[in-house]
Amino acid sequence: MTCRSSLVPFLAGAVVATVVWFAAGLAHDSTPHVSADVGAPVQEAIVLEQTAAAVAANLAPVPDDGKLRIICFGAHPDDCELRAAGVAAKWAGQGHHVKFVSLTNGDIGHWQMAGGPLAQRRTAEVERCAEILGIESQVLDIHDGELLPTLENRRTITRLIREWDADIVMCHRPNDYHPDHRNAGLLIQDAAYMVIVPFFCPDVPPLSKNPVFLYYEDRFQKPNPFSADIVVSIDDVLEKKLACTEALESQFYEGGCCSGTTELPQTPEERTARQQQVEDGFRRRFARTADRFREELAEWYGEAAEDVGSAEAFEICEYGRQPSKDELRELFPFFGDD
Ligand SMILES: [Zn+2]
Repeated sequence: MTCRSSLVPFLAGAVVATVVWFAAGLAHDSTPHVSADVGAPVQEAIVLEQTAAAVAANLAPVPDDGKLRIICFGAHPDDCELRAAGVAAKWAGQGHHVKFVSLTNGDIGHWQMAGGPLAQRRTAEVERCAEILGIESQVLDIHDGELLPTLENRRTITRLIREWDADIVMCHRPNDYHPDHRNAGLLIQDAAYMVIVPFFCPDVPPLSKNPVFLYYEDRFQKPNPFSADIVVSIDDVLEKKLACTEALESQFYEGGCCSGTTELPQTPEERTARQQQVEDGFRRRFARTADRFREELAEWYGEAAEDVGSAEAFEICEYGRQPSKDELRELFPFFGDD
């Protein structure tokens, strides 16, 4: 991982912030409403000290350019790309800021290779996807298949969300088939409140506004099926998303960890045929989302929903900010453009 914090500023920030709170004679009860009871000079002092803590932690300043900031977490280096590359490309196309984070390095995700070389290869693959989409990408150095909902990982994710100053956070639901996906969902849920609690990871300033947390589409039914609260046409960026699936060569062209593939195409003809097979499969997959949520699409696109060929869908997590439909249209400024 490349979290920009270190132990020294962590401790320095904690001490400085604690002094400010105690100087103000305030009881801290970890509720999100504490700041509303704080007088303006004290609030100003807290902001100044938190800014100092951020500077001490060597954080790059977040540009205040009025653009949206979205951070998407996936368990492996391909999960964000498969589930949110379309909306990422749409946001990036409007100048909004998107970051994909893989919580593991993907180092067991191949039937023929593993370990450091595979982790490096998969990191390069998602970096290529980020170039295609016009976004940022980060891969944490945690072993594939070993992601756990630890306090250390909760802190890491809390810091990443704060450092990105996120308006929207995305992740898997915590009832997914893969233990890494489930634990990723749990970790993001665990961070959903802590990102606004000042003295949790006080080396990075808390967010002043709780982000909207969203889940990726899946087909798991228990304990409850996915609810498509927002469905976006990705027809205008489909080729970019397909270019990402092609760039994720180790996973799809070569078959990933257990697709049954045991040999690679040898001739140019075989390679072309394999590429076409992968692309056709993904075209069908992204079209299935549009077909599955045709009624929900109509809520956003009206009659034009009938013409949507491919889509991405997201569910609102009940933790984090609960957006109105109008706010969702501001956060997803795409409807009416398609
Ligand atoms: Zn995965």
